[in-house]
Amino acid sequence: MSQKKPKLGQNFLTDPSARQRIVEALGDISTSTVLEIGPGRGALTDLLAKRARYLIAVELDRALAPRLKETWKHAEHVAILHADILGLDLATVQSKSGSSGNDPLVVVGNLPYYITSDILLHLFAQAASITRAVVMVQEEVADRLAAHCGTSAYGLLSATAQMHGRVEKLFPLPPEAFTPSPSVTSAVVRLEMRPRFEELAVDRTGFLRFLQQCFRQKRKTLANNLKNARIAETAEILAAMEEAGLSAAVRAEAVSLESMGLIFQRLNV
Ligand code: SAM
Repeated sequence: MSQKKPKLGQNFLTDPSARQRIVEALGDISTSTVLEIGPGRGALTDLLAKRARYLIAVELDRALAPRLKETWKHAEHVAILHADILGLDLATVQSKSGSSGNDPLVVVGNLPYYITSDILLHLFAQAASITRAVVMVQEEVADRLAAHCGTSAYGLLSATAQMHGRVEKLFPLPPEAFTPSPSVTSAVVRLEMRPRFEELAVDRTGFLRFLQQCFRQKRKTLANNLKNARIAETAEILAAMEEAGLSAAVRAEAVSLESMGLIFQRLNV
């Protein structure tokens, strides 16, 4: 029987021990401003409100947001925003936190599947405002985020995430932990935001675009992907790869971020 996709990716977490483990994965948040993405019916919100110095929860659903506002109306350290996370500027959120206004945020959320990648990219783009994020995603996405270079799960998402910080897959969550149950297993990942653009001496926008070109066709070699993207002449591409100690036949998934950085600098793209 085909299952209807839940509206706004609403699979609500109902397993109490999973709630606890997700919140514990944030570490000590007693002095932090926490941003919760998609609080829904509040599965994590209670626990977060008990532990965080300040909690900002962003919910898009027009029925759930007012309910949450009503529940938390007397709590001075809890703010519910009825908004789309993708339209939210995190620096503005920081300034609403009632603190000095520039403490980096701790982010948490059981992310709606239909926009997981968009939310992750939105968080990466604002990594300077975030110290740590603990998010639940589809297990397959968690595996790609945390994959080591040289393994088959390693790809553009892994490289992009790992340019922004350290990624750790923490634990899986079975479909039965949610109502309604999704059709796939989920997993919780922790991202310690520590962007590497300065360390590798690459411009963020240019390097992220370059990575997209490197991974454009998974089956092709790195050299062919770069050639097809007209990044440079073939001879130049091969020379840059050789300087980085790479063979001409290597695929992007086997190339470390450090080597990617060297090729990027050498080709001056
Ligand atoms: N945190 C709750 C839980 O664990 O039970 C709900 C998780 S559910 C997977 C995702 C939540 O994100 C839903 O409440 C949904 O309405 C909300 N949501 C979906 N799209 C959103 C968006 N663009 N901005 C903010 N919240 C969104």
